[in-house]
Amino acid sequence: PFDVLVIGGGPAGASAAIYAARKGIRTGIVAERFGGQIMDTLGIENFIGTKYTEGPKLAASLEEHVKEYNVDVMNLQRAKRLEKKDLIAVELENGAILKSKTVILSTGARWRNVGVPGEAEFKNKGVAYCPHCDGPLFAGKDVAVIGGGNSGIEAAIDLAGIVKHVTVLEFAPELKADSVLQDRLYSLPNVTVIKNAQTKEITGTDKVNGISYIDRETGAEHHVELQGVFVQIGLVPNTDWLEGTLERTRMGEIVVDNHAATSIPGVFAAGDCTNSPYKQIIISMGSGATAALGAFDYLIRN
Ligand code: FAD
Repeated sequence: PFDVLVIGGGPAGASAAIYAARKGIRTGIVAERFGGQIMDTLGIENFIGTKYTEGPKLAASLEEHVKEYNVDVMNLQRAKRLEKKDLIAVELENGAILKSKTVILSTGARWRNVGVPGEAEFKNKGVAYCPHCDGPLFAGKDVAVIGGGNSGIEAAIDLAGIVKHVTVLEFAPELKADSVLQDRLYSLPNVTVIKNAQTKEITGTDKVNGISYIDRETGAEHHVELQGVFVQIGLVPNTDWLEGTLERTRMGEIVVDNHAATSIPGVFAAGDCTNSPYKQIIISMGSGATAALGAFDYLIRN
């Protein structure tokens, strides 16, 4: 059996595998797609110590770094079930069953898409999902935020300090964000909130030039000219396959303590699939290291 089996090959999983392997213990990593979300990322400017890199380039260097060590890399494999007996068994979609003394779950998350015309077409060409990452690219420009929940309103407040003007589009008749966030939002001079707005299309030529929405009260269609659209309608953790096996939040995030331990002894978790409050590359890598050290600590005590 493995000493540490990592499920997920994004920044969190790569970091966990390297930290585990450096302890000289038997380490494996299973990834549906090595690299994870960064494979869909163009410019990265907040990976501290590296002024600029691109997602696929960072993913390649993560893989190269992992392969420096004696890690059993199982790419293009998806885990579908986890069970703890004496050892922890992880069953893959291809039917194989892997056994390990400890497991680190780092299956990440995915942004929920609005699914309107233009969204996929203009991804990285004006359509963005992460204000911490891409906000500065829109300095002095006009943008929209789709979604009036906490993440949407936090994004709008954040962006209002950087861009010229923010239009918030909320589908429902009311914003769902906490009232303190709403108060802060409404105190800002360069924000417009449009409720009952159903996004119809993100328009553009080679990049975004506007957004169309339908006023759900009147049925009238409107168009706003702008250069960026931030989609903030939820980040979904890739943890469905764990339903019923360990503690998750209402949103499906795996609950971890400050040693990255989950509710199952010997099972740890890191990165965007957990209830860690901020989802970033550097944070995922840090939590992957914590999980590996937590697993190592567990191994020497059990
Ligand atoms: P992920 O990167 O999601 O990796 C999850 C891994 O698990 C993948 O290998 C996946 O294939 C695998 N997996 C999932 N389910 C299973 C399963 N059942 N079995 C086996 N493997 C599985 N952050 C920044 O800090 N700066 C940025 O500039 C930035 N820009 C971004 C731009 C975009 C478009 C997106 C989508 C995200 C961006 N982020 C950015 C966020 C950042 O990419 C994530 O916070 C980070 O990738 C999370 O790492 P992770 O390892 O936790 O998860």
